[in-house]
Amino acid sequence: MAKLILKNINKQYDKAVNTNAVTDFNLQVKDGEFIVLVGPSGCGKSTMLRMIAGLEEITSGEFYLDGKLMNDVPPSNRNISMVFQNYALYPHMTVYDNMAFGLKIRKTNKKEIDRRVREAAEILGLQDLLNRKPKALSGGQKQRVALGRAIVREAELFLMDEPLSNLDAKLRFQMRAEIAKLHQRLGTTSIYVTHDQTEAMTMASRIVIMKDGVIQQVGTPKEVYDFP
Ligand code: ADP
Ligand code: ADP
Repeated sequence: MAKLILKNINKQYDKAVNTNAVTDFNLQVKDGEFIVLVGPSGCGKSTMLRMIAGLEEITSGEFYLDGKLMNDVPPSNRNISMVFQNYALYPHMTVYDNMAFGLKIRKTNKKEIDRRVREAAEILGLQDLLNRKPKALSGGQKQRVALGRAIVREAELFLMDEPLSNLDAKLRFQMRAEIAKLHQRLGTTSIYVTHDQTEAMTMASRIVIMKDGVIQQVGTPKEVYDFP
């Protein structure tokens, strides 16, 4: 069975407006795949991701995770973690506490929190920065903390919404490789949203190209970009 089934998903923000943000989106994702949703600004990528996270209601259609219908499951009961473009770190908390926060509110015990935070810090090279506040971090370091906060959840689905778009070109290049390595190591099923075709080509196991809320093409990077 597919890890993720998205069946005829539609999103209409405003019933008075006759256009959909997403129209008849159909996709099945296998366990461990790294899917990249790519397309121009406004094509519905973010909307799709937010519906999967439960931050936005699905107007019609069905979303299954491990065979379970998720449409009406509140975000807090979804074992899904999401990384945003703007990091969304808590400015008054240390790196450690930023990463631990989501586990604390889920009442995970302190020892387990400490194990997971230290493991994530090691994977992301944040060991020496645990006591810093976000304002004392570079852009790349902040984005690593945001990734760390997401991976400590050990969720079964990992959603990333343009996580690199605020970084300069050199850091983007470096973080692309780091995220790919992270995925190799953890193997978590991932959906990554970007408007950047290079990111899509270098990171995806499969690419989904969207335009005006509609899937145009689905395939491996080779199938999608290697024209004969
Ligand atoms: P992308 O992530 O590809 O840039 P979005 O999913 O953000 O695209 O937006 C898709 C469409 O839905 C756009 O036309 C956008 O204006 C519209 N949209 C996005 N969010 C909202 C919202 N909260 N209310 C109304 N329309 C929205
Ligand atoms: P709380 O914030 O809930 O009071 P504690 O401060 O008692 O939690 O810390 C619990 C665990 O988290 C300790 O084992 C400690 O090693 C670790 N810890 C907390 N803050 C930091 C930090 N800034 N850097 C490294 N480890 C930390």
